[in-house]
This record gives sequence, structure tokens and C-alpha cells, in this order.
Amino acid sequence: MSRVVIIGGGPGGYESALVAAQLGADVTVVDTDGVGGSAVLTDCVPSKTLIATAELMTDMAEAAELGIEARDHQGDLSTTLEVDLAKVNARVKRLASDQSADIARRLEREKVRVVPGRGLLESPGAVVAELADGGTETLTADAVLVATGAAPRTLPSAVPDGERILTWEQVYDLTEVPTELIVVGSGVTGAEFASAYLALGIPVTLVSSRDRVLPGEDADAAQVLEDVLTRRGMKVLGQSRMESVTRSGDVVTVRLTDGREVQGSHCILALGSVPNTAGLGLEEAGVTLDDGGFVKVDRVSRTSARGVYAAGDCTGVLMLASVAAMQGRIAMWHFLGDAVAPLDLKRVSSNVFTAPEIATVGWSQRAIDAGEIQAETVMLPLRGNPRAKMQGVHDGFVKLFCRPGTGIVVGGVVVGPRASELIHPVSLAVAESITADQLAQAFTVYPSMSGSVAEAARRLHHF
Ligand SMILES: Cc1cc2nc3c(=O)[nH]c(=O)nc-3n(C[C@H](O)[C@H](O)[C@H](O)COP(=O)(O)OP(=O)(O)OC[C@H]3O[C@@H](n4cnc5c(N)ncnc54)[C@H](O)[C@@H]3O)c2cc1C
Repeated sequence: MSRVVIIGGGPGGYESALVAAQLGADVTVVDTDGVGGSAVLTDCVPSKTLIATAELMTDMAEAAELGIEARDHQGDLSTTLEVDLAKVNARVKRLASDQSADIARRLEREKVRVVPGRGLLESPGAVVAELADGGTETLTADAVLVATGAAPRTLPSAVPDGERILTWEQVYDLTEVPTELIVVGSGVTGAEFASAYLALGIPVTLVSSRDRVLPGEDADAAQVLEDVLTRRGMKVLGQSRMESVTRSGDVVTVRLTDGREVQGSHCILALGSVPNTAGLGLEEAGVTLDDGGFVKVDRVSRTSARGVYAAGDCTGVLMLASVAAMQGRIAMWHFLGDAVAPLDLKRVSSNVFTAPEIATVGWSQRAIDAGEIQAETVMLPLRGNPRAKMQGVHDGFVKLFCRPGTGIVVGGVVVGPRASELIHPVSLAVAESITADQLAQAFTVYPSMSGSVAEAARRLHHF
């Protein structure tokens, strides 16, 4: 029986453990923080749970347009909704730990052994576990998978204190509502937290070192989001590089490199992630890291050391839970001799959970504009969609890209409420090389937002 040892119990680790167990291997997962990893305990699951509350607040704030009025018990119009952050955060933490416990039970059912502790690579065939309750255990392996994830990046000039200067892992300890929140960093994580806390009724300033928010996303989508956020009252400071974050009593000061200062009650640092790869014996065992400390892998998750695979954020390939899980599964399929296709990033759909959401798949507008691929483009605003009108949705669009000759759909962007769900037909089209005509011919429900996906596809029709 093949022995597989996995270091790290996040989606990269536990999903591969399930595949390896299914294929008959003897599997051990060494994990420091609890299975589910950062994805379940501090990152995806908590943030999306917080955002679920924020979404409800957004809907309620816009209810008046649809004819709903809130009145207090004296019958007067009541216009303020308040969030009980202690309650929200308690729900977030409960849900995260329940999810971790669910995964632990599943692993147990599949006979995967979970060893609480820190795993170190002694050699390509051996992992030493520094056990949580003391002592060490050496685990020999035919294959090792490194899936140790990443941690929030901090700077010596902006040190989190866990009370008012916070990493994204620390926000769920807040029991009182910030009176003025500053979010530093306008990538996906910064934008999601800024959008969520704004929806919860908290004044937010977003400090962005670039021209606009979400510099890595579709420019039209980022523009829609920035317009909506500023319309709702967010202060977005573009071209503003943070130099330092300091605290004096209840006041947090963010100093910018041009000398300006922004003050608030709390600050969230969203400065990107650093891989958890230092001090694990990786390089000593022959695993090559890049300049940023990420593990170098090929498309079937092999590292430079024979028998050592790596998956997830520690590889920096695409920092998504779905990609981590797929890299891990691919590693196990490859090692255990099952059918395997190399990782194809052009099929990955991803979503920014702001209000509105931004979902993308396949080739990007940027790659098309740069001439990396030839594609025809159509962009259809959602405001013409009958369902959007009924629901009071004014912002957002569907964008589709298809190859000029064949009409094969190669990518798309959806901006709108629940864009994460609406992108799926486009993902299917990209994954299965479906043409715009085929996408257009499938029935959509009337009225529905997905009608706009089909309509966009119809507009790409050639005679
Ligand atoms: C705020 C936020 C929101 C996000 N939201 C989403 C989202 O909505 N959708 C999405 O797809 N992605 C999202 N992501 C990204 C996603 O969280 C990561 O891509 C995912 O967690 C990567 O999984 P992983 O298995 O590589 O690592 P992790 O989930 O970080 O798990 C790694 C685990 O290994 C443990 N570990 C580290 N070193 C060792 C060691 N030496 N020995 C034993 N154990 C060790 C860690 O403690 C951790 O538990 C989000 C990220 C952030 C920051």
C-alpha cells in the first residue's frame, strides 16, 4: 500500500487526502491549526459568512425602492439598520469551527489519520511531525504533499496589534463596531472587506496604491465597483501608498508616502500573503523555491524533489481554495497512477465577493487587448434585463469573449448580484469549448439574469 504524508490540512491538503484514500493509499495529514486550514478557519469561510450578513444589509438598504418601509414601534419611518458585530462574529466563528469539524469527521470516515502538529520535511521520503502535545514522530512516505498555505503579509511599519490594527484573520475578534474603518490594500481581500463593512453601515476609507481598485481584475468591472462604492459613501484614495500605520489610544493613523495622513478607529491590513515555506526543510530536501519563497511546481504539482508534490497557496499559482484543492487532487491522481489532466488555469472561475460581485473565467480582456489571443468581445449592461429591473438592480454587466472564426467561447466576466452563480454557464462553455451560438440556443428562464448571458452570446452570432 502506498504511503502518502500531507503537510497542511487546508483545501490543498484535505481534498488530496480524500482522493488518495479513495485510491487506496495509507494517508496521514499533519496539521497545525485544525483541518480546513486558513480557508475554513480564518479566510474564505469566515469572510464569506460575514459577507452573507453584509448582503442582507445591502438588500435591506435598497428595499425602499421596491416599496418596503421600515417603521419603529411608534409607527414612524425608521431609516437606520444596525449590525450587532459581536453576534455576527460569533456566528462566523461557530460556522467555521463546525465546518472544520465536518471535514475532520469525513477524513476519519475515510480512514485518513490526522496528526496535530507541525510537519517538517526531513528528506523526500520522511516527514518529522513536531506533535502539538509534545514530542516528535517520524512518518515515512512514498510521496509527500506540501500544502502549508500562506499567511497575511505585514510590514515593520504597520504591525497588527489585534485590537485596532488588524490582519484579515483578526477582524472576527471585534465586538464593537468601528466608527471609522480604514482598509489598506485594494486587491480582492481589501475590496471584499471594504465593501462588506460599508454595507454594514460603517464609514470606510479604502487606501489603494494603484489608480483604481482591483488592479488585477477586468478594468470595466473594477470601474463599476468603484463607482458603486463611492456612490454608497466610501472614500477611495487612489494612487495612495501606505508608509506606516500607528495607533495612539483609540485613534489609528495611516501615513501615506506623500505625507498625507488618514485617521480612523480601526485599520485592516490587506497587503497580500507570504507562503508558509520557511524553516520546513524544503530546500534542504531538494525542493526549489522562487524568490518570493513559493514552491515551484509543474502542472501536475511536482516539485523539483522526486516524490514531493506541492499544492495551494504555498505554490502561489493562483491563490484560491478551488485551485489548491485541484492541485492537490492532481498530485494524488498523478502519484497513484489514476487518469490525470494537467492544471489548466484558463478554466478556473473566480469571484470577488463585493457588492456587486465580479466573476470571471477564461481569457481576460487584458490578454485580448495585449494581443495574446484574438477574440471578439460583447458587453451587455444588466440594466436592460427585465429581472434586473424588477429587482432594482442598476449596476453590472455580462461580457463574453469568443474566437473570431469558430465562435468558441474563451472567457467572460459577470458583474452583478450573485455573479458567482451566473458565471457557471460561461465556465461550462469555456471548459467544453462550446460556441457562442450553442450557448445562446440553450433555454434560459424568463425573466432571469441568466437571460443576459444568452443574449450576450446571441450578439456574438455571425451570418
Ligand atoms: C480573506 C480571504 C478570503 C478568501 N476567500 C476565498 C474565496 O472566497 N474563495 C476561494 O476560492 N479562495 C479564497 N481565498 C483564498 C483561500 O483561502 C486560499 O487559496 C486557500 O486557503 C489555500 O488553501 P491551502 O490548502 O493552500 O492553504 P490553507 O488553507 O492556508 O491551509 C494550510 C494549512 O496548513 C497549516 N500549516 C502550515 N504550515 C504547516 C506545517 N509546517 N505543518 C503542518 N501544518 C502546517 C496551516 O496552519 C493551515 O492550516 C481567500 C483568502 C483570503 C485571505
